[in-house]
Amino acid sequence: AAWILGVSGGIGSGKTAATDYFQTLGITVVDADIVAREVVAVGEPALDEIAAHFGSHVINPDGTLHRAALRDIVFADTAQRQALEAITHPAIRQRLQAQCLAATSAYAILASPLLWESGQAALAQRTLLVDVSEATQLQRASQRDGVTEANIRAIMAAQWTRQQRHDQANDIIINEGSLAELHQQIDALHAEYLTWRP
Ligand code: ATP
Repeated sequence: AAWILGVSGGIGSGKTAATDYFQTLGITVVDADIVAREVVAVGEPALDEIAAHFGSHVINPDGTLHRAALRDIVFADTAQRQALEAITHPAIRQRLQAQCLAATSAYAILASPLLWESGQAALAQRTLLVDVSEATQLQRASQRDGVTEANIRAIMAAQWTRQQRHDQANDIIINEGSLAELHQQIDALHAEYLTWRP
């Protein structure tokens, strides 16, 4: 790929709906959530470093990561969360970049819920925000997952605000309308992206 488009948005904003459509246009999508799991798979150096730092109780008997145990440790302890991120973030960044560069499409998409929060935006030459009102976020996320409004609000509180994302994004899609309207906006951006160069 000639360049990397970072795509982000809050919970329930429609990132997946958007990147699924880019994929139908032939664009390779690299998902930061998937890569974050890959780097802690059995046999990966990051998993060994996690075991060394946090102890064997964060490793299951079969050698896989005990996600719930690790989450309990880092949830309440900022220093431990930072220690975990110091282990995983470099590995995630390296793998994201490698997968984007290996893509044969005109440009590649790096899709990440925490594109700016995590610093992954530095890997992208241009960024696209999928944006909706908080009311729409709550409505769509609760319909999709069946989780409580309180849970969704807790996730929203841990993410950047709409204003912070607006200040950083190069391009913005407002996803308040139908999926057809979302696709129309993407068609127009895609036409521009095909000839754009950093
Ligand atoms: P998360 O960060 O929680 O994974 P997301 O940003 O990837 O969320 P999606 O999963 O794409 O969001 O969208 C949330 C829900 O809203 C899904 O059920 C999706 O089908 C629906 N949705 C997205 N865009 C639209 C739209 N324009 N019209 C109707 N429903 C939509």
